Amino acid sequence: MLRLHDTATGSESVLHGQEEGHIGLYVCGPTVYGRPHIGHGRFALTYDFLRRYLESTGVSVRHVSNVTDIDDKIINLANAEHRSAAEVAEQYEAEWWAAMDSLGIAPPTVVPHATAYVDEMVEMIGELVRDDIAYETSDGVYLEVARVAGYGLLAQQSLDSLRAGSRVEINEEKRAPFDFALWKKAKPDEPAWPAPFGQGRPGWHTECVVMALALLGEGFSLHGGGEDLKFPHHENERAQAVALGRPFARHWMHNGMVVQGGEKMSKSLGNVVDLASLVERHDPRAYRVVVLQSHYRAPTELTTGNLEAAEQALRRIDALARRLEEAREVGAADGVAERVTADFRARMDDDLSTPAAIGVLFDAVTAANSAFDRSDGPLAAALAGAALEGFEAVGIVASGRQGVPDAVLALAHERDEARAARDWAAADRLRDDIVAGGYRVEDTPAGTRVYR
Ligand SMILES: [Zn+2]
Repeated sequence: MLRLHDTATGSESVLHGQEEGHIGLYVCGPTVYGRPHIGHGRFALTYDFLRRYLESTGVSVRHVSNVTDIDDKIINLANAEHRSAAEVAEQYEAEWWAAMDSLGIAPPTVVPHATAYVDEMVEMIGELVRDDIAYETSDGVYLEVARVAGYGLLAQQSLDSLRAGSRVEINEEKRAPFDFALWKKAKPDEPAWPAPFGQGRPGWHTECVVMALALLGEGFSLHGGGEDLKFPHHENERAQAVALGRPFARHWMHNGMVVQGGEKMSKSLGNVVDLASLVERHDPRAYRVVVLQSHYRAPTELTTGNLEAAEQALRRIDALARRLEEAREVGAADGVAERVTADFRARMDDDLSTPAAIGVLFDAVTAANSAFDRSDGPLAAALAGAALEGFEAVGIVASGRQGVPDAVLALAHERDEARAARDWAAADRLRDDIVAGGYRVEDTPAGTRVYR
C-alpha cells in the first residue's frame, strides 16, 4: 500500500482508491502557449512514474490531465502574432505531446480540453451565483472566498494570515483581495462563449475543478501538480467544490521544482531549458533518472554533470540487460528476486522514496554482475531480472528489452536451435519471420539478438 504525503494534512497517509484497486488521478496539464521546458518535464515524469509504479503493483489508474487551450497568455500571443488562439493552442499542444513522447511518458487515460467543457463551467458558475457565493462585476464573475469554509487549507494558512502577507492586485469591484475570477467577460475581438452573466470565457481554476469532477467523479483519489500550483490554483479549484458541497480530491500531491543552482544552465548546457533540446543532447531516459534521484517533494538540480552521471547509470542497466539476454539463464535462487522486489516496493510505498528505491535496484545490478563473474548463472539471472523489472516499474526500460515481445524472442530461440542443428533453411525462414515483424536481427557469438 502506497503511503503518500498529503498537502492538505501535512502528513503521510495511505492512498485509497475510490474503489479498491482503482485510483482516479487528476494532474493539471499545460497551458499551451510555449515550448515545453524542463519544469514541465519534471512534473510529467513524476506523475508518470507514480502511475507506472501503481500499475506495476496491480492497481488500475485512471489518469486525467487537461489541456488549457483558452487563456490570457494564449490570446495575447495570438494577437501579437496575428493568428487565432486556436491555432496557437494547436501548435503548442502538438509540441507538448512530442516532448512527452520523447521522454517515454505514457499519454494520460483522458485528456480533456477546457474549451470542450465550457457549458459545464457556465452551469457551475451559475450555481455559485444563485447560492450567493459568487458575484458579478463589470469584468466578470468572482468567488467570495470568505464564504468558503476552510479556505487556505492547501496553503496551510488561514485567510487572515494570507491577507496579511498579500500582494494581490487591486480591483475596486472585488469584495476582497483573494476573491478570484470564475468568468472573464470578453473584451472586443476575444474568443467568447455565451453565458447568462455575459459573453466571455472561464477562469483557469474553474476549468480544472469542472473537468476533474466530470471525469473522475466526486471524492476522487488524488489531485496532483507542481508545488507552484498549490496556491492559489489548487486552493481555488477546491474552494469551488467545497462551496457547492461536492466532495473533491481525497489526497493532494505536489512535486518540487527544478533548480539550476550553482551551475548556470545557459552556459553549461547551451539552451537546454526546453525539453526538445535536452532530449537532443542526452539519452532521453537520463532526465527520468535524474528526477528519480531526488525525492519528488525536494528540488531537483539539473546540471550537465548529473545528466551525464545518469547516462552512465543507464549504460550499466543496458549492459546488464545484454548480459542477461546472452546468458540465456533462467533465474532460480530461493526468493532472491522476491526480496529485491519487496525492498524496492517498501521504499516506493514510503512516500515514493525513489532515491532509496532505485538504490536497491542498482545494488542488485552490482550483485548480478558479480554473480555472472562467478558463473553463478541462476542467481545472476534472478537478481538481474528483479532489477530490470523494478526499473521498468518506474519507466526506465533497458535498451534491447525495449518492446521485444516474448513471442519474437521465442522465434530467436528457435532460430538458434535450427542453426545449432545446421538447418540453415529453417534458420533463414525464422530470420525472415522476425524481420517481417519489424525487428532487426543480429548474429552474435551468444546467438541471435533482436532489436526493435
Ligand atoms: Zn489545474
